[in-house]
Amino acid sequence: MREVNFDFDLIVVGAGYGGFDAAKHAAELGLKVAIVESREMGGTCVNRGCVPSKALLAASGKVREIADFKHLEGFGIHAAPVRFERSKIADHANNLVSNIRNNLTKTLERAGVTILRGKGRLEGPQTIALRESSGVDRTFKAKDVIIATGSDPFVPPGIEIDGRTVFTSDQAISLEWLPRWIAIIGSGYIGLEFADIYTALGCEVTMIEALERVMPTFDPDLTKIATRHLIDGRDIDARAGVLASKVSTGCPVKIELSDSKTRELVDQLEVDAVLVATGRTPTSKDLNLESVGVETNRGFIPIDDHMRVISNNKLVPNLWAVGDVTGKLMLAHTAAAQGTIAVENIVGKTRKIDYRSIPAATFTHPEISSVGLTEQDAKILALEEKFELGAVRSYFKANSKALAELESDGLMKLLFRKDTGEVLGAHIYGLHAADLIQEVSNAIARRQNVVELSSEVHTHPTLSEVVEMAYKQAVKQMTN
Ligand SMILES: Cc1cc2nc3c(=O)[nH]c(=O)nc-3n(C[C@H](O)[C@H](O)[C@H](O)COP(=O)(O)OP(=O)(O)OC[C@H]3O[C@@H](n4cnc5c(N)ncnc54)[C@H](O)[C@@H]3O)c2cc1C
Repeated sequence: MREVNFDFDLIVVGAGYGGFDAAKHAAELGLKVAIVESREMGGTCVNRGCVPSKALLAASGKVREIADFKHLEGFGIHAAPVRFERSKIADHANNLVSNIRNNLTKTLERAGVTILRGKGRLEGPQTIALRESSGVDRTFKAKDVIIATGSDPFVPPGIEIDGRTVFTSDQAISLEWLPRWIAIIGSGYIGLEFADIYTALGCEVTMIEALERVMPTFDPDLTKIATRHLIDGRDIDARAGVLASKVSTGCPVKIELSDSKTRELVDQLEVDAVLVATGRTPTSKDLNLESVGVETNRGFIPIDDHMRVISNNKLVPNLWAVGDVTGKLMLAHTAAAQGTIAVENIVGKTRKIDYRSIPAATFTHPEISSVGLTEQDAKILALEEKFELGAVRSYFKANSKALAELESDGLMKLLFRKDTGEVLGAHIYGLHAADLIQEVSNAIARRQNVVELSSEVHTHPTLSEVVEMAYKQAVKQMTN
């Protein structure tokens, strides 16, 4: 057999959270690693996603809090009308982005990872072709290749984007201006977070959702309570069951709304701006995956639970994929976990991912979070595995800390097996729900049951007692 001279043990294509964690972990384990990046280091999360959006949410959340006279009066506080500078809020997000991006780049350099700037593509097995911005092409051989090219905003047909009046989250995170009236298309977590930001900063929002109810991906019981506060209680007109079938850029932006089922035109709107938040599409088109015989599933790269790429039911040797491009729970911490697991498998340790224990959060005020199965999926599992499903609700209005904060609007739903007590899922809406979910996520990762969990002592008074109460109620419903 002809001996191959490899340039690297591992080449990672894409330096988002998935690629970053993979490259760093591999270098720490002693592999010779290169990472290829065509845009800014850090990918979507650092530059156009989690980091800047959370900075905007933090600032706008403070504006909302100080402007909420009624809430403050409850504490006996009388505040002066709040003033804010849009450009300084935007600067806060931009500064945070560059800090985190620089730290991440330095971390990789310190770990000994070679950073290759340019667009990478496969050129057959174990081979990456790199096109640098100067137009120079280079080719590298690596024992293993990880694809971590992430995703881009999905823009439905009929919608024109100019980046100024009609834009996606890629532009919204710069907060270049505050439209008086903005339509947000999509009521998933990105649409909800931006609605939170815009309404706190005084904009009027129309939320357009094609499915039958707003927040279609969230637990229906939680949604009932959350919409009361996050949508009905704010300057938001939510319209469900309608499609923004045509959006034309300009001043004003014109929107044609059609009935989602019949496709008949039902309304026309003229607004100052439109944010398109209709999901994300995998970045895999230009990767030349055909050169290794990989067929994607609507652009997503099929993988097994070890992150090995699958093609026609067979594993593709030495090729791995992680992060949004695989379409599994498209979140930064999923990408990072997948990156680490891919590397562990590359070095010969057999490790699988456990998607059920990966939490998700929406950082509205208050927050929404979830982990594990939805109630619908848990019901299906209960039928298949012949067990009785338990579901209990724990309310923030019974929690001393939430009451002290005058923030008692909230609910946790816990799903569990009535026979063994195993926790199957949890859905939380309320103050600091994003932090609270971690406890349940850890319990699911360990496949713990409500009997052992209910005996664990929680600090009083804390919001974590909402979770404790749920475990205690669940024990009472057990059948064994
Ligand atoms: C507005 C918004 C808010 C979000 N908030 C959160 C949040 O709060 N929490 C959370 O967990 N997730 C959040 N996400 C999701 C999160 O950003 C993604 O899940 C995460 O970035 C995925 O990481 P990744 O490594 O798979 O891909 P990405 O971060 O998309 O990185 C992929 C990288 O690959 C590069 N690339 C692509 N093709 C090539 C090529 N051919 N050659 C070289 N480089 C290439 C890209 O330039 C990019 O830098 C948010 C997303 C958005 C849009």
